[in-house]
Amino acid sequence: MATVKGDVHDIGKNIVGVVLGCNNYEVVDLGVMVSTDKILQAAVDNKADIVGLSGLITPSLDEMVFVASEMQRRHMTLPLLIGGATTSPQHTAVKIAPEYSQPTVHVPDASRVVDVVASLLSDEQKPAFDATNRATQAKLREQHAGRKDRPVLSIAQARANRLKLDYSNPATPSFTGVKKVDIALDEIVPFIDWQFFFAAWELKGRFPKILDDPKIGPAAKDLYDHAQKLLKQIVDGKLVRARGAYGFWPANSDGDDVVLWTASEAGRPKKVAARFPMLRQQEMIADDKPNRSLADFVAPLDSGITDYVGAFAVTAGLGVNELVKKFEAQHDDYSAIIVKAIADRLAEAFAEYLHAQARIDWGFGDAALSNDALIDEQYRGIRPAFGYPACPDHSEKGRLFDLLGARAQGLDLTESFAMTPASSVSGLYFSHPQSKYFAIQRVGQDQVEDYAKRKGVAMNEAERWLRPVLAYDPSLVSA
Ligand code: SAH
Repeated sequence: MATVKGDVHDIGKNIVGVVLGCNNYEVVDLGVMVSTDKILQAAVDNKADIVGLSGLITPSLDEMVFVASEMQRRHMTLPLLIGGATTSPQHTAVKIAPEYSQPTVHVPDASRVVDVVASLLSDEQKPAFDATNRATQAKLREQHAGRKDRPVLSIAQARANRLKLDYSNPATPSFTGVKKVDIALDEIVPFIDWQFFFAAWELKGRFPKILDDPKIGPAAKDLYDHAQKLLKQIVDGKLVRARGAYGFWPANSDGDDVVLWTASEAGRPKKVAARFPMLRQQEMIADDKPNRSLADFVAPLDSGITDYVGAFAVTAGLGVNELVKKFEAQHDDYSAIIVKAIADRLAEAFAEYLHAQARIDWGFGDAALSNDALIDEQYRGIRPAFGYPACPDHSEKGRLFDLLGARAQGLDLTESFAMTPASSVSGLYFSHPQSKYFAIQRVGQDQVEDYAKRKGVAMNEAERWLRPVLAYDPSLVSA
């Protein structure tokens, strides 16, 4: 079992490992960022019965397709299991399974894995299980092939239907440029959103009500008590470090680009600090809704208005690996997983804390907002994160990290633009009162061509990062 190359997320995989271990299966866990060759060689060396792949960010989907094709090329016969947040039965059926002639099974969560593994390892059950899995996948492929996607608008039409806002009253932050942040953990603990802590274990429900749930309450309570003990150890012992950077820049939209300027000196031409190419929704929208782009939340260059945009990158993962190793050496896999989940919570809490600080810097902060109000986003502005629906291109984190000098604060990026340490959060700050999250669902070839030019990369490179939102199949388009 491994998290594929370029990806660092492994809480789900580790839970799967613990569940299998509890059911007397021997699991060889290769960790994170594991190359295809290393995974497949380890499968051979360990005489494995099954290979399991995990991944959280969208670029990992391509890597999984590659592993499957390599298993075929190497004439392997082991079943392949696919799991992790961005994986789906559809993607597994349409893209991964066709690469490999042996059973390729999407496992939606840890609770399903024992059944799947038991079926695949049983001579009696395997044929029927495999046949059902193949039939289900054939049906999913059929649905996919028969999908009559509504055509998308041309990018010119989509731009004509952009969101037009009143930009005449931009908020001016109290400083421009970057500030480094190095924060004591007890300052960010109050900002933790515990609901997502339970979600990592597939325990779903509002916190703190979940602790009293008749069905899952006892399990949630047990987990919570354990986590509180570990959190106290981490905070009191300063066992992990939280660091980051944030800042503000004068900014304008230029077409669908968001341009951040170096702090302007009167009379001098402005210099570009960073230019983020943004995508625009290209769906045919029946009612009078606009085709949105994050660029719409920033005053256009030709308005003559100086607007501002912020950026941030934070981590609460420094020291986590050492702590995890300590628990693993004591064969305490449960605590090792909880520590990672706590670090994720601390990173998100840090982002929430810093966003509150940023709103104070903008001049519209509200120190009185409760944690519930923060979780419900009852404040002005948004902090969209690259790789999420409004800006799905993970690779733009490279530009963001350069802008912020994030690497000097201990953060880095993998070749798939996953952040390291894994417990990190980054994004942009938009201040316009009408800025809201939205999703880029499908983009047409015309927009991707334009985007590639604006980004300064080849078309196939742009398509690679935008794969999950492409409205067309690049392999069917003649050059
Ligand atoms: N309270 C959660 C964190 C919020 S998740 C926790 O503790 O885990 C929501 C975050 O995801 C937002 O703050 C934003 O950074 C990002 N996000 C959500 N929807 C988005 C979208 N449509 N586009 C871009 N980023 C989005």
